[in-house]
Amino acid sequence: MLKPIRLFGDPVLRTAAEPVTDFDLELRNLVRDLTETMLDAPGVGLAAPQIGVGLRVFTYHVDEDEPGHLINPVLKLDGEPEEDEEGCLSLPGLQFPTPRAPRAVATGFNMYGDPVTIEGTELLARCVQHETDHLDGVLFIDRLDRKQRKLAMKAIKEAEWSGYPVPSVKISPHSTQHIS
Ligand code: ZN
Repeated sequence: MLKPIRLFGDPVLRTAAEPVTDFDLELRNLVRDLTETMLDAPGVGLAAPQIGVGLRVFTYHVDEDEPGHLINPVLKLDGEPEEDEEGCLSLPGLQFPTPRAPRAVATGFNMYGDPVTIEGTELLARCVQHETDHLDGVLFIDRLDRKQRKLAMKAIKEAEWSGYPVPSVKISPHSTQHIS
């Protein structure tokens, strides 16, 4: 099911997510919702807090590969950080040069509880770092240098979505329907 993506300002994006302990149907539904919402956006990655779920789960879809997911990720990073343009579905329209390690090995589990390892370079390495940060309540703007961060905060203030962090249902003033 497609879920509304939480925007910057929503406290769920600043809250560390809990490790998954039950590899059950509910978890598989979460992975499915994350995957559908990510592909619809479209985005190269989506973390559970971005759809309001405080669990350590993210999905990714880099290049033309099949979409994947990772649960309870642990990262091992390698190499000097490199800057490249990065954005986030929770900060629509913003992109800033963000330093990330060029190589990452992410270990964790799939939705059935089997151990998995993702070895990434370039965009995949960047993606797993960005998504794992989300699980710690960290956003890419936190990784920017001072100058870029100032520009980012200014862009956030000016963004049309700024100040509307929690998705709400807009009710037309002309509606005659009774809302219960
Ligand atoms: Zn993001």
